[in-house]
Amino acid sequence: MTLRLRGPRLGVGLLLAGAVGLAACTPAPPEPAARESTPPSSGPRQFTAGAPGVGDDYFPRYGNAGYDVTRYTVKIRYDPARDRLTGTTTVQATATADLSSFNLDLAGLTVRKVTVDGAPARHARTGDELVVTPAAGLPSGNGFSAEVDYEGEPAPLRNEALGSGGFRATSDGAVALGQPESASTWFPVNDHPSDKATYEFEITVPEGLTAVSNGVPVGRSTRAGWTTWKWAERSPMASYLSTVAIGEFRVTQGEHKGRPVFSAVTTKVPQGAADASIARTVEVADYLEGVFGPYPFGAYGGVVVSEPGIGYALETQSRPVYAASFFQRGENTGVVAHELAHQWFGNSVTLTRWRDIWLNEGMATYAEWLWEEHRGGRTAQQSFDAEYLGASEQLWRVAPGKPGPENLFSSSVYRRGAMTVHALRTTVGDRAFFEIVRAWGADRRDGNATTADFVAFAERVAGRQLDALFDAWLHGTERPERPAPR
Ligand SMILES: [Zn+2]
Repeated sequence: MTLRLRGPRLGVGLLLAGAVGLAACTPAPPEPAARESTPPSSGPRQFTAGAPGVGDDYFPRYGNAGYDVTRYTVKIRYDPARDRLTGTTTVQATATADLSSFNLDLAGLTVRKVTVDGAPARHARTGDELVVTPAAGLPSGNGFSAEVDYEGEPAPLRNEALGSGGFRATSDGAVALGQPESASTWFPVNDHPSDKATYEFEITVPEGLTAVSNGVPVGRSTRAGWTTWKWAERSPMASYLSTVAIGEFRVTQGEHKGRPVFSAVTTKVPQGAADASIARTVEVADYLEGVFGPYPFGAYGGVVVSEPGIGYALETQSRPVYAASFFQRGENTGVVAHELAHQWFGNSVTLTRWRDIWLNEGMATYAEWLWEEHRGGRTAQQSFDAEYLGASEQLWRVAPGKPGPENLFSSSVYRRGAMTVHALRTTVGDRAFFEIVRAWGADRRDGNATTADFVAFAERVAGRQLDALFDAWLHGTERPERPAPR
């Protein structure tokens, strides 16, 4: 994510907030996961309720325990005139505990019917949790399929982190995105990045409007004044990276390296810098591919929206969404480099828990520095020096390795995160550094990881201990020593 809010202007042409007003959230101990299954030999199975949280120490109620989703099929119809969404979502999952019931995250909306493996299931709501009780228990290790019919007037989340998490109506349609959560406002979901899955979307909107989502466009059909747009994201995706944008767009389609390119710029802004910047997506992706290894997804593209509530860009998988304000002053490929770098760092290799957010934002910000150097601007070393010398005391006080939920998107996570990446490069040398970032993407592709995983991996590739370096840069609350360039 890149923020464009009031704050100090950075040389790279982005505006970052010093500290964003994240909804206050008191970390609580992780909720216990559903009880392990009893081996059949030692007596009858004990089926218990799946916990309503996956155990993230920053956001204990995010996601749910007891199952692992493999695939979502999300079919929605949205009528902008009535701000009404009607949906059927099928969740294919595997039980990881003997479940008597399980939860899905669903904010607002009214559930009409739930079936599990085709049989009617009981359902109840507790806040933004949908509790599903199938007719029979779900044994650990077995696959199951839950289908949920629902409808209502969708709304962004009340505890949204950046003033925009979730599905919102716009003057010409709607847009859904947001980090760290947003998906539960338009489909029932295990809403935590630790449970990645593939997705199919069928978005039905009034004929004449565009509905763009993640992944590959797989067809479009119109009947009785309604057009259904079909999309498939075939690489595992974290739920916060899902998106849909409905409205009037200038659409550009093409192909690059055998993959479809699909970009859409809102017609609310005149053709110009936004279109020109997004058109350079594949050029930026090719540059990053040279640094980070093969582009990890099956499609390219970008979406530009102009909505008062959306003042940021988000790396929604294979098709980032950008606020039009990023392009107000002309072409801006820095933000494109940031969101595309996330396709490797954040999307293909995804956080296991939100406290490790610097892994995403530090590397994406560092990619902006690399891109700027590649274009003949400041070198990465010069960007580091400017940040290191110019950083405020506040930036050194927030440890990017444990920023706290209230500072999840603070300046430290981005800028000190990028400085951490450069400090690693300076310490291990270019050869080991670029081997680390390339091999990391290959080793963890389509998976999840923690900071500890990254540190261990970097140590293995570099062949040396690096804990003192990472401790000082990620966990210290004072300015670390400037690493001496080798
Ligand atoms: Zn970012």
